[in-house]
Amino acid sequence: MESERTRVRRLPERGSNDPDTIYKILDDNFLCHVGFNADHGPVVLPTLFGRDENTIYLHGSTGAHLLRAMRGGIPVSVAVTSVDGIVAARSHFHHSINYRSVVVFGNASEVTDVQEKLHALEILTNHVLPGRWEEARQPNTVEFTQTMVLKLNLDEASAKVRSGPPHDDDEDMSSDVWAGVIPLKTVAAQPIDDPGLAADTPVSPSVEAAIARWSFE
Ligand SMILES: Cc1cc2nc3c(=O)[nH]c(=O)nc-3n(C[C@H](O)[C@H](O)[C@H](O)COP(=O)(O)OP(=O)(O)OC[C@H]3O[C@@H](n4cnc5c(N)ncnc54)[C@H](O)[C@@H]3O)c2cc1C
Repeated sequence: MESERTRVRRLPERGSNDPDTIYKILDDNFLCHVGFNADHGPVVLPTLFGRDENTIYLHGSTGAHLLRAMRGGIPVSVAVTSVDGIVAARSHFHHSINYRSVVVFGNASEVTDVQEKLHALEILTNHVLPGRWEEARQPNTVEFTQTMVLKLNLDEASAKVRSGPPHDDDEDMSSDVWAGVIPLKTVAAQPIDDPGLAADTPVSPSVEAAIARWSFE
């Protein structure tokens, strides 16, 4: 996954091109930001993704002009970020963020093979809500046709991770200002029934699993 442009130069001890490190960060997230040159200039688009081995899939409406701009195989860069904490130091200079992030470079292209497209939609669905693909109705022909799927391999990707307390200067260690980390995490609250839900409909296993996954420790 290493190339000239994926080698972390700034604070390289925080960087990694190890596939397992990269895959873990990707699997802990489902939101990415895709940057590319559109006709009207550079654009960064927030969107969902799903990972299957060394490939990530993106999807959207065939009417989405930004997705359409990407499908011809243009160069893109994708960023995925987990924010794990705010690092409050004794000096402003050493304030920081604890994070795990991935940057990918490559050429996104449209998935046109029917079987691969269906597989990609399953990957996307289960990446966000594992097990949901098996629970809800499958896409019909119209829905399938109205959905565009793009894929991007992870051959050029990097990870960067910051963790732990602030790195204050020795002369600031006697300061009486509080220093440390405010941990942050995404937490699921109790699910809210759809108003049209039939009485006594149990919560789906995928939803139960998501609540457990995103629970507050
Ligand atoms: C939540 C968050 C907040 C941040 N806040 C700041 C900030 O306020 N100021 C700041 O300067 N930096 C911040 N960073 C770090 C920032 O993402 C860059 O790593 C940093 O600015 C160095 O950029 P560079 O182009 O000089 O890195 P270089 O090391 O020159 O980049 C070379 C290559 O390393 C890889 N790389 C670089 N950064 C990352 C990354 N974060 N994740 C994965 N791969 C990476 C890419 O493949 C890149 O092409 C933040 C990161 C995160 C995740």
